[in-house]
Amino acid sequence: MADPTRTDPKCPVLTTADGNPIGRQQALTAGPRGPVLMQDVQLLEQMQHFNRERIPERVVHAKGSAAHGTFTVTNDVTKYTKADFLSQVGKKTDCFLRFSTVAGERGAADAERDVRGFALKFYTEEGNWDMVGNNTPVFFVRDPYKFANFIHTQKRDPKTNLRDNDMQWDFWSLCPETLHQVTILFSDRGCPATLRHVNGYGSHTYSLINADGERVWCKFHFKTNQGIKNLTDEQSAELIGADRESHQRDLYGSIERGEFPSWTFKIQVMTQAQADACPFNPFDLTKVWPHADYPLIEVGTLELNRNPENYHAEVEQSSFSPSALVPGIGASPDKMLQARLMSYADAHRYRVGNNYHQLPINRPKCPVMNYQRDGAMATAQDYGSATHYWPNSRENTPMPDEKYVDPAWNLGQAVVDRHDSTDQDDFSQAGDLYRLLEDDHKDRLTTRIAGVLGDARQEVQMRQLCHFFRADPDYGKRVADKLGIDVDAFMAKSPNHGAPEPANA
Ligand code: NDP
Repeated sequence: MADPTRTDPKCPVLTTADGNPIGRQQALTAGPRGPVLMQDVQLLEQMQHFNRERIPERVVHAKGSAAHGTFTVTNDVTKYTKADFLSQVGKKTDCFLRFSTVAGERGAADAERDVRGFALKFYTEEGNWDMVGNNTPVFFVRDPYKFANFIHTQKRDPKTNLRDNDMQWDFWSLCPETLHQVTILFSDRGCPATLRHVNGYGSHTYSLINADGERVWCKFHFKTNQGIKNLTDEQSAELIGADRESHQRDLYGSIERGEFPSWTFKIQVMTQAQADACPFNPFDLTKVWPHADYPLIEVGTLELNRNPENYHAEVEQSSFSPSALVPGIGASPDKMLQARLMSYADAHRYRVGNNYHQLPINRPKCPVMNYQRDGAMATAQDYGSATHYWPNSRENTPMPDEKYVDPAWNLGQAVVDRHDSTDQDDFSQAGDLYRLLEDDHKDRLTTRIAGVLGDARQEVQMRQLCHFFRADPDYGKRVADKLGIDVDAFMAKSPNHGAPEPANA
């Protein structure tokens, strides 16, 4: 049967990327049996473009699912922030939310046990605000030096090219600050049923600044209105065997059916005086702020209501960075946040290109005017012949406006040093979480942990067991029992197994 050819004038004419009409899609050959001629530029273009279809996958959060949505303000928080998109109850802002798994590559199964990324872009009238969070309120480490190292432990061994439980637990056992997040990861919430059934958290501490220039510290929470729903280990294994894209399928399908998932946006706030008196470091990414002391304040509702038209253009090229901050929302001393302010935008410059901001999915929906120019794929849509240096005395050129200057930030008597934070309390909050779980949940948590910790060397098992005991004796006892370790006999021999004595032991 002959290949289809254009007879209907309503069909567009097939063209090359340069817009040159194509007469026939068959290789240009010397004779019916070939060889192919170099002058078949249509074929060359298609093959060369195909070779370049993939952009580098994200080193972390490679596998993602996303949707467009609308954010609506439901409560007046102007007392805390002058952010324009929060300035009025009822105000609506377009959003784009990308969920992801962290450790797996782009082909990884959706229903694996892992933290989920929760990266949310608000296209506000004062530029984009990216809330680049996770479905957990804390993270594994608090010092940015440990980030790349931690990620290596979640990836493949350099020789075997396999994930390695010894490597993972070796790192975790040497970094007790990971215990809080490890407990969440191995709790039921570590394996969500769908992306609609997870909370999102900003995790870091940020600042909010109001119209009077007053700053409070703040945490962001997005609570799922679908309720938390998780998979058992058996359900997840069965699901992965049948469908590796279960979360993408669920999110896409529910939006296509008009069943729009939603989240309630809430904040916690802390004044500087409260921060000064706080018994733990409120800028430590391994800590939550207890709800009882810092109650949640409602802000608005996020609804996802439109699927992307083109996965690559919108989801794969979407680029989120905590450095995208609008007036009224700012950074905090959190060391991990400070590092991410640099590294996320840098990653997108490498992965997508220097002008990733100019792609439709990343482009702010307000005017963008500055003196940055050129680089690969610069569309110059905004700039044209405009002046490209500052200061200048030309007419109608962009100028900074004093009204956007943030209030000064008093660092007191801060001493520049490579400060050691290993003396912090890494166990109380992990213990608090353990104690609030039901008995059968504690059982599942400790069974899962023993299942993978059992693959690690005994030295690693013992070091990690000490951490579980420090969080809660029952936590340690259950894991030890499931590993078949007689703790009393071991403790008689080596009470601390060479681990440094923690501050709160
Ligand atoms: P609360 O009793 O006020 O809060 C307990 C919170 O625990 C719940 O609100 C829920 O958070 C969360 N939670 C319940 N089950 C799990 C689970 N399997 N994995 C992770 N989180 C779960 O106590 P506190 O505020 O004093 O916090 C106690 C512990 O709760 C913390 O150490 C922390 O581990 C955990 N937690 C606290 C959060 C906070 O911001 N204070 C947020 C999330 C967890 P949610 O309402 O967000 O679903």
